[in-house]
Amino acid sequence: MQGKFVILLLALLAVCILGGCTMFFLDQGPGSGRRVRMEVTAYCPCGKCCSWTLDKNGRPVISAGKSKGKPKAVGITASGKRAHPGTIAADTRYYPMGTVLYVPGYGYGVVEDRGGDIKGRHRLDLYYNTHNEARQWGRRRVDVTIFPPGTAPIPQNARPPSL
Ligand SMILES: [Zn+2]
Repeated sequence: MQGKFVILLLALLAVCILGGCTMFFLDQGPGSGRRVRMEVTAYCPCGKCCSWTLDKNGRPVISAGKSKGKPKAVGITASGKRAHPGTIAADTRYYPMGTVLYVPGYGYGVVEDRGGDIKGRHRLDLYYNTHNEARQWGRRRVDVTIFPPGTAPIPQNARPPSL
């Protein structure tokens, strides 16, 4: 009788330990970000999206703002990296370069860029290769998951974070 009780107790203990470990590892996974509702737009490298034009010599120059007329490195982000699907522009005062995000409908991405209109905690701009894709995104309000600093980049099409 007492032996059975001990076994039951041990089994219960084992379940608690295993369960605890599982919860611990789940917490470390992509489910551990916080969520913030944001207004999310999209952009591509085109002159319209990135405020550049060709000068009389056919070279791209910045077409607006205080750097107007200066040479423009088309497709290069504010972080110096080449833009690619998964590149996200954010206000880096709140979301520093390298912050991993999950945007429903877009997938995972990394903050690698900034934008003149992208100010505050509730604005993002998603990079697409073509203007058509960026237009198709339009402007959406979605709940974005923000992962803690030091989170390694996650493939754009990985499965959504568990909530
Ligand atoms: Zn564009």
